[in-house]
Amino acid sequence: MTNVSTRIAPTPSGWLHPGNGISFLVTWALARAMGAGLWLRIDDLDADRMRPEYVEDIFRTLDWLGIDFDHGPSGPDDFFKRFSQHLRLDLYQKNLEKLRESGLLYACNCSRKEIRDLSPDGRYPGTCRDKGLGWEGDGVAWRVRVAPAVALWELWRTEEAARRRPCGAMADGGGCPPSPLWGYGGRGMLPDFALGLWRTEEAGDPMPDRPIEQSNQSNQSNQSNQLIESIEQLTRLMGDFVVRQKNGMPAYQIASLTDDLLWGINFIVRGADLLESTAAQLYLAHCLGEQAFFQTAFLHHPLVKDEQGEKLSKSKGAGALKTWRENGLTPAKLVQQAAGWLGLDGAGIETANDLLKVIKGQNPDNQ
Ligand SMILES: [Zn+2]
Repeated sequence: MTNVSTRIAPTPSGWLHPGNGISFLVTWALARAMGAGLWLRIDDLDADRMRPEYVEDIFRTLDWLGIDFDHGPSGPDDFFKRFSQHLRLDLYQKNLEKLRESGLLYACNCSRKEIRDLSPDGRYPGTCRDKGLGWEGDGVAWRVRVAPAVALWELWRTEEAARRRPCGAMADGGGCPPSPLWGYGGRGMLPDFALGLWRTEEAGDPMPDRPIEQSNQSNQSNQSNQLIESIEQLTRLMGDFVVRQKNGMPAYQIASLTDDLLWGINFIVRGADLLESTAAQLYLAHCLGEQAFFQTAFLHHPLVKDEQGEKLSKSKGAGALKTWRENGLTPAKLVQQAAGWLGLDGAGIETANDLLKVIKGQNPDNQ
């Protein structure tokens, strides 16, 4: 397995929490097990929430976890000097212009409240699609057109999705693009969400629209068209989403995609809360003609909940890893949980390297 590139991509908008730590460990250990290149990318576009101490916290946390990386900033100073996303605004804008020139964008001046009043589920109803508003007006966002909603996406939000077949089934022609990760996924190592954004159960699936069923019966050559089709269906459910914010800054979706393309990222580990973003980014890649991005393998991992069952959030500072460090705790608990996410027995393991050994032990290629 060669030429796999992945990244750890934290946002310096709060103290990192256990969910971030486990996600980094999974990404690092899979990267090292595959001999993949690993980038550190710090997503600092949101200048209002960025704080230098959060950038510092990212480096300290990686150190504490025992995680190294191959590409990216060597420390906070190097980050601000050479790797800040604010240094790549022209690249993001170039992709925005490309989308605009292809007629896919329109300007929107709706407020959050106006959208909420019209659409209780928060999905943008397309109010400004045909208004022809000016691009640079005050309080104007740019949105990308997507077709009317279908019901597929809703199903991906449900617990149902968590019971889908392990991605290993895909290696037998389950409808996903050729992936350098098949060697791993094929042995059922990755949890259910792995690589499986567009995959459905074969039997008894309540899915009203079943592009994957078709692709199960199809040959490799038309798989990619069907893949695009199913991503479009997912994306339609998001409504026309924002690609440039009202303050003129590129939205996360376009910045993340642009950076991933720039660095040749083809393996992305992220939380299941970003499934929608995966759909959005694949859709944008499709619109931009960036077919290479469709070779990307995605691993969507479960989210860590707090004791009340709420999603951990950086803004709440829930159990910040900074506090773990200050209290002299080791990352052993996180390492064990990372093993659990990968379906491995993590009993007794304590370090990132232990996790890597467990993964390698599970891969017959390395035995
Ligand atoms: Zn609008």
